[in-house]
Amino acid sequence: MGNVDRLNRQILTAYWIVAAMVIAVDSTYFFSGANAEEGHSPSSLLTRILLILGIAGLGELLYASFRRYGRQIVVGISLTMAYINYLNLSAYTESSPGILLMFPMFVPLIYFDRRLLDGFGVSNIVLYTAFYFLVERPFYERGIEDFALRVLMLAASLLLGRLVLIRALEIGRQVELLTQAQQDLIVDKAVSQRLLKTDALTQLYNHGTFYEYLEDLVDQCMRNGLEIQVAVLDIDNFKKINDTYGHLIGDLVLKEVSIRIGMIVAPNDFAARYGGEEFAVIFTEKTIGESAEYTERIREAVQSANYSYMGNHPVTVSVGISAYEPGDTAETLFGKADGALYRAKRSGKNRVELYDAGRDTLSVRD
Ligand code: GH3
Ligand code: MG
Ligand code: MG
Repeated sequence: MGNVDRLNRQILTAYWIVAAMVIAVDSTYFFSGANAEEGHSPSSLLTRILLILGIAGLGELLYASFRRYGRQIVVGISLTMAYINYLNLSAYTESSPGILLMFPMFVPLIYFDRRLLDGFGVSNIVLYTAFYFLVERPFYERGIEDFALRVLMLAASLLLGRLVLIRALEIGRQVELLTQAQQDLIVDKAVSQRLLKTDALTQLYNHGTFYEYLEDLVDQCMRNGLEIQVAVLDIDNFKKINDTYGHLIGDLVLKEVSIRIGMIVAPNDFAARYGGEEFAVIFTEKTIGESAEYTERIREAVQSANYSYMGNHPVTVSVGISAYEPGDTAETLFGKADGALYRAKRSGKNRVELYDAGRDTLSVRD
């Protein structure tokens, strides 16, 4: 059920409550014997009760059949009720309370609908004018000054209603602007957080984020026995590419290589641009053998990619891998992979080497 539907439902229910209250007041008048003149027979009381219940029931019926016109039905019923009550009370009091006719003027306010308020307000005045000249003046001999007073009250309540509505709509617009600004801020924050964490050229995570994540994971390894591996990848002879084809082409190669890395690593792995032409990957939920396979696939993918913008000049990477062992810190884990990378470079490049304590030195960088 939409908001407006719920609102209509609530107002229609409120009409039943109004009807019950009117019946209670009418019956009190009736049984107290006040003003025992015309309209004071049991049958006329019953007619009035049936009439007011009938109107509330009519509202339900119309609403069930023409839900699309919910607002119009709700305001229409409020008007009919007002007139019925106005007439009912005329049975007892000399000067029927015109204030009753004002109430329906405020129903359109509930919908924040200016057109409904204007249209309804003007028709209300026209309707009362007709009612006065066709019913009140000939049958109740109500004076013209009463008529003037009532029209004035209706016009004043319409104006007041308009002011309230205009103010409410203004505030609504301000709230909308504020909400929009807040949403923009949230998006900006998300974007700037992303920018802080990633490298602009390759869109991979940056050096800082890599270490943050590695430290967290090493912590997990210590506490919960998680197994992780780190791979360090370095493009071979990259300086030559830069020197031969220029820095912009060098950047294209960096992008190309990072795309290959991103395509191959699993969603729960973590690929970063460590710096310059170096990349690092943290593998999770894998054995060292599986991680070595992944890096081997990256190595092959980089080698077989198409670098047509530099006459298919070969691009290769060398890789060193290490697996977490108890006692490792983020630095030693990375240093071991870096040591293995150094061996991969020395023994011919374009290869993947696993850290071997017997052969590799633990490289320490600042
Ligand atoms: P090796 O095979 O031993 O790794 O040799 P290499 O030439 O790749 O390594 P070296 O460290 O001598 O050169 C790395 C070069 O990478 C030097 C630097 O100008 C270049 N470089 C670093 N960052 C960028 C970058 O963002 N864009 C470009 N185009 N070049 C970069
Ligand atoms: Mg390097
Ligand atoms: Mg290099």
